Amino acid sequence: MTVKDTQISSYKTLPKSRKEAIAQGEMYFFTGIPCRRGHLTKNYTTSGRCAMCSREDTDATLEKFKIAKMNRKKNNSEHLTVG
Ligand SMILES: [Zn+2]
Repeated sequence: MTVKDTQISSYKTLPKSRKEAIAQGEMYFFTGIPCRRGHLTKNYTTSGRCAMCSREDTDATLEKFKIAKMNRKKNNSEHLTVG
């Protein structure tokens, strides 16, 4: 049994729908259906979104911030050498 299988079997104890999760006060639910990006994982009750998608989007946002920060630094140093 892989780690992933163990994870999925632990998700099976979660509510099967967002509605149930709300009723039970659970933070996550697991439908057993892959999301549209193909992740088979738990979903957030608050947003109804796949946990992996949320994570990927957060990483992508962080990456954008990192790039923006790097560009800013670059622009600043260029500015310093010019002026
Ligand atoms: Zn997903």
